[in-house]
Amino acid sequence: INGMSYGERSLAELEELAITAGAIVLKKILQTRPKKDPAFYVGKGKLEEIALICQALHADLLIFDDELSASQINNIESVVGIKVIDRTSLILDIFAQRARSKEGKYQVELAQLKYRISRLSGLGRQLSRLGGGIGTRGPGEKKLETDRRHIRNRIKYLNSQLEQIESRRNSLRSARSDRDVPVIALVGYTNAGKSTLMNKLCDADVFAENKLFATLDPTTRRLPLEDGKYALLIDTVGFIRKLPHHLIEAFKSTLEEAVYADLLIHVVDVSSEEVEEQVKVVDSILEDLGVLDKPVIMAFNKIDKVSSYTRPGIINKNGKCFEISAVNGDGIEELKKGIKDALPQNEVEVKLFVP
Ligand code: GDP
Repeated sequence: INGMSYGERSLAELEELAITAGAIVLKKILQTRPKKDPAFYVGKGKLEEIALICQALHADLLIFDDELSASQINNIESVVGIKVIDRTSLILDIFAQRARSKEGKYQVELAQLKYRISRLSGLGRQLSRLGGGIGTRGPGEKKLETDRRHIRNRIKYLNSQLEQIESRRNSLRSARSDRDVPVIALVGYTNAGKSTLMNKLCDADVFAENKLFATLDPTTRRLPLEDGKYALLIDTVGFIRKLPHHLIEAFKSTLEEAVYADLLIHVVDVSSEEVEEQVKVVDSILEDLGVLDKPVIMAFNKIDKVSSYTRPGIINKNGKCFEISAVNGDGIEELKKGIKDALPQNEVEVKLFVP
């Protein structure tokens, strides 16, 4: 991948994220430079040019496709005169809009607070250094300290609440495994078609829309297999490139559904120009989670949209591949059969379900 086209693709994804968050995108600007500017991220001259563009377009928000420090945000805002946010804030904003369960909401808040506190300490250091220690111990510094303490207390509270939820979830998981109901996790890049496939497989009405992160919280449905037998199908959060690692941690519980699953279905959008890279992103996160030894089914989705495509390379060579269209149902019966075959037989025997 050359630097330029990677930048363009990353910006295109940022545009989709911005639309998901509810923004109207007026313009995308790409600057190629060997090093980030420590003060303004882009060069000062470029930033002045951007300020003029924003003015001409009456833009009221400028989003950067990277993480910015607190002082960079301040510096940039003072030049462009409009609100500036970075990629992480944008993603957190989407998570905040989409979180539905208590756990999801707590986790988003936790990630937001951690993000804020890291920015606060950055400011503190900056102030002390700038003033050489003189005049930096006033109310400003005291306020920062109070803010920090408040945030730390809230973080402590959220962590304890999340631990409780987690232990309840673990007992739920063991209850599930006591009943030997097989659990299948749908994983895949965001917008690959996981929710649509879940609807198709389960005849259930899961929230599906052409937006990133339509599915934030784990959603569970019964997947009928045959003769009243079924499995539990769990939808997981969609992956994106450059998802900062601390955000992955924040949503670990969603991804943990994949850790406890008996089978993974990796849904792939073969109509995407970036199919190869998207599969790599998902595979590498699954590898991080240590779940690649589980049976994996590859569902090459959206075949109705393409006349031909290049099959992406996959890490798990044992994974069976199915070509499907979650929208018009092509290949779904074959996929269902593949799922049945991939599940350990003794687990499919169970008929009783107590939610
Ligand atoms: P998720 O983010 O992985 O859950 O993706 P969704 O299920 O929300 O689907 C994202 C978009 O892709 C929606 O607009 C779907 O209608 C569309 N989509 C999903 N599957 C197919 C398919 O097989 N063919 C076509 N043409 N579009 C699909």
